[in-house]
Amino acid sequence: MLLDAIFEPKNLTIAATVFAVGKYIQFLQDFLVTAEQFFFVGYNVQIYVFTDRPEEVPKIRTTRPVSVRSVPSFSRWQEISAHRMDLIHSLLLDLQSSTNYVFCLDVDSKFHGRWSSESLGDLVSVVHPGYYGNPRSGFPYERRTQSRAYMAPSDGDFYYCGGAFGGSVGFVLELTRICSQNYRDDEKEGVEATWQEESHLNRYLWDNKPSKVLSPEYLWQDFKPRNPEIHIVRFSGVIKNYALIRPNV
Ligand code: UDP
Repeated sequence: MLLDAIFEPKNLTIAATVFAVGKYIQFLQDFLVTAEQFFFVGYNVQIYVFTDRPEEVPKIRTTRPVSVRSVPSFSRWQEISAHRMDLIHSLLLDLQSSTNYVFCLDVDSKFHGRWSSESLGDLVSVVHPGYYGNPRSGFPYERRTQSRAYMAPSDGDFYYCGGAFGGSVGFVLELTRICSQNYRDDEKEGVEATWQEESHLNRYLWDNKPSKVLSPEYLWQDFKPRNPEIHIVRFSGVIKNYALIRPNV
């Protein structure tokens, strides 16, 4: 591919962050195995796993270093999801000088097709597979003005996934700084955005346009039939039973 011919000689380092807290550790094996097969093959890839169960991180044979970072377990899944921005931000402060790009991904997912240099950009988002056919009024943005994630009815380009976003380290540092700050400021006022960090991400990407918008091929959902316009499902969320895997319902 032409893009690989441009990017490969740059000797880039690409990080992927993934959270596997509580019972979500069970998804990590397939995530890591399929990342090895499809995610930036031929590049320097470093995977960062955030977990409260470091001893359960599967020891798979991979050419990519897997770094494990311990995080506390939370009693509500909303908090696990919401604190990701904070924790990714602290990680990126450490990676600034060693890493070029980062993608922040959901663990309950598998790669099925190439995800590589075609996805690189300063600020990269993925159109959510659940809503791209809807009119803007049907996007599940935060609609309460009390939240810093608020989107007015006339606002918004696309509804983006919280389960896959990324870009160059400097840009994602700023994104995670603002999203976690806004989440915390909301929290102080007793407000939790409808879709936690996904709501704040969507607001951020309205104020700061992504430089690359990836199609829902980059985060499909296995429970959805593949629509005809989706030619290759590259990465998709597995079917899961929330009652069995989340700490609360
Ligand atoms: N997560 C986790 N443990 C939990 C809940 C969530 O590690 O108990 C992480 C995990 O990386 C997961 C992500 O948060 O992929 C998003 O949560 P979830 O899959 O529940 O959200 P959904 O996309 O299904 O709304």
